[in-house]
Amino acid sequence: MREREFFYPNRFAHRYLTCTAEICGKNGMTALLHLAKLSDYIEHPPPDNLVEEFNIVEISQLHYAFEEMGRPRMGRGLAWRTGMCVMHNHIFDFPQVPFSQSDQGKVALADALPVIIQVMTQYLSEPPSIVENETTYAFSLETCPACYGRNPTLREKDWTQSPPCKGVCGMVEGGLWRLTGARYDVKEVACIAREGSMCEFVVEKQISHKQWS
Ligand SMILES: [Zn+2]
Repeated sequence: MREREFFYPNRFAHRYLTCTAEICGKNGMTALLHLAKLSDYIEHPPPDNLVEEFNIVEISQLHYAFEEMGRPRMGRGLAWRTGMCVMHNHIFDFPQVPFSQSDQGKVALADALPVIIQVMTQYLSEPPSIVENETTYAFSLETCPACYGRNPTLREKDWTQSPPCKGVCGMVEGGLWRLTGARYDVKEVACIAREGSMCEFVVEKQISHKQWS
């Protein structure tokens, strides 16, 4: 049975590929697009408009290509940095965001998080709900852009080195950094590509003091 299809507006893809080029360089991005079987975008990148034409499977293919190019751990680091760039550098480009540049660094975590998740999951008619715990917020994705369409074939070894959907963690962390002015840790605690029923993420309420790359 063919899986259901979900689409981002072209603008999301446009910003995603802009960030990929920034993180990997032009040659790196060309190699990545070949590996991801998305080489048409080398000559014809997605236009900067809000037409919903970019299949989320293509983000998943890019994540897989990052891993192929750099081995899982390093590749997931690149996917994390790309996600971080998309939301940190371009969050105000998306119409779902009710804040302006003058609000940056001033938005509370509880107000920023739902907006970021809505931007990241704009292919859904309803964003996933957020559960508040004592020290964390948690949210789950039934359709995750980092791994949608991937079979549950990831090995335990890969997981322990680094959870697969780092691109999602990067997007949330990047958006929070831009809106709240602070760094918050986001980690994946379960993944569909590893036989979980959902990709589950946890956001620490405490500001992170670790060194970030
Ligand atoms: Zn996932």
